[in-house]
Amino acid sequence: MKAVAGTSATEPGALSDRVRVRRQPARGHYDRAVVEAILDEGFVCHLGFSVGDTTWVLPTAYGRDGDVLYLHGAPANHALATLQQGVTACATVTLVDGLVLARSAFHHSINYRSVVVFGQASLVTDVEEKRRALEVVLEHIVPGRSIDARPPTDGELRKTSVLRLPISESSAKVRTGGPVDDLEDLGLPVWAGQLPLVTGSGAPVAEPSTVVEHPPAYVTTYRRVG
Ligand SMILES: Cc1cc2nc3c(=O)[nH]c(=O)nc-3n(C[C@H](O)[C@H](O)[C@H](O)COP(=O)(O)OP(=O)(O)OC[C@H]3O[C@@H](n4cnc5c(N)ncnc54)[C@H](O)[C@@H]3O)c2cc1C
Repeated sequence: MKAVAGTSATEPGALSDRVRVRRQPARGHYDRAVVEAILDEGFVCHLGFSVGDTTWVLPTAYGRDGDVLYLHGAPANHALATLQQGVTACATVTLVDGLVLARSAFHHSINYRSVVVFGQASLVTDVEEKRRALEVVLEHIVPGRSIDARPPTDGELRKTSVLRLPISESSAKVRTGGPVDDLEDLGLPVWAGQLPLVTGSGAPVAEPSTVVEHPPAYVTTYRRVG
């Protein structure tokens, strides 16, 4: 199983009641190092928010800079436009580490590391912070890419909204290990165990019009740290 950096028996408790893991509380972690390690390995979050009687949960990319998650999109983006008005956001990041096959259907499970962040996002209006935030998002997803990629023009910046979501109110939840079968099922002639899953990348596919013959090392050696 993948190690969870920073886990310790003395880690602080949840910072607010809504991020206190109630179901399987032993799997809950509030230590910033645990939360950040999960956020740094993922790059897609599911962004939830409610307006009136409708709740949306939308997948979107993000980058982390210190204690902030940066989200970006078109100014017309409904989620971003709503969140910058102070509507509470709930961002969830999920890493799937493996399938857990038990003897019984009931005890099947998934090994995972996930983070839930609650907070109020705010619009980044400072142009320098906006530039840096967009670089953070790009670097978060493809480390090394911002050195090569042409930076955004002023016009492109105007066509992009960037929101800052603090990660101060967050929880992590981690499941590791094998199945927990009932004692009376241990002798059943059913294979039980774990099937680890990893995020991998295939061979790069060059754009036919690219003038650069070989993909850079950050492409050929791309991997999410785990
Ligand atoms: C890949 C994956 C698959 C899962 N499949 C199932 C499933 O099939 N059935 C099932 O019941 N549960 C599943 N879970 C666990 C699920 O996410 C919830 O933790 C669980 O259902 C308890 O829900 P609850 O509403 O009682 O949480 P509560 O413990 O009441 O939640 C309270 C607070 O704890 C924190 N919290 C809860 N869950 C998580 C989490 N996963 N990550 C980070 N913080 C969390 C949040 O801050 C939340 O507001 C899965 C999790 C993952 C990552």
